[in-house]
Amino acid sequence: MSLTANIDLKDLVRTVPDYPKPGIMFRDITTLLGHANGFQACIEQLVRPFRNQRIESVAGIEARGFILGGAVADRLHCRFIPIRKKGKLPGKAVGQDYELEYGIDVIEIHEDALNAGEPVLLVDDLIATGGTAEAAVKLLRKLHAEVVGAAFVIDLPDLGGSARLAKLGVECHTLMTFEGD
Ligand code: AMP
Repeated sequence: MSLTANIDLKDLVRTVPDYPKPGIMFRDITTLLGHANGFQACIEQLVRPFRNQRIESVAGIEARGFILGGAVADRLHCRFIPIRKKGKLPGKAVGQDYELEYGIDVIEIHEDALNAGEPVLLVDDLIATGGTAEAAVKLLRKLHAEVVGAAFVIDLPDLGGSARLAKLGVECHTLMTFEGD
């Protein structure tokens, strides 16, 4: 039997109450990434629905989306494209703003990162309100890429992010849910 068959990935996620501020239940995946068989099982499960789909690139959202997205890209034999916080990319970049609880933030992608019509899979660790993922989808579409889906380890469905992405025409593949926020 494979070493990853009986692993309950949810057991490997650590919940840190009141981080980074009171009232937030932070779902920490470093404990999952730090478990060799757990990490392997997580990547296997993230790629499963996409194995036979035409995907040329994986776009990962800074920073945990880089760790997961890099491994997913390797498994799918495609390339990796970073989506970063404003001002971090060295080349000419295209930006997209999105609302935070207080104020706005901006994510960016290199303007020459993708070809028009290129099928791309979006990857991040967690979807909550979906604000970050929605901005990422808009950014990929600004470069005329075709977003074939989005994969997250964790969904917080009460915050509505996966439903928000569905409204944009992007289906979310998630490995586990936590109730509440
Ligand atoms: P959102 O834009 O609201 O969907 O938030 C998603 C981003 O914020 C992801 O990059 C997550 O890593 C991070 N995030 C939001 N809420 C949490 C949480 N409860 N635990 C861990 N990370 C979170």
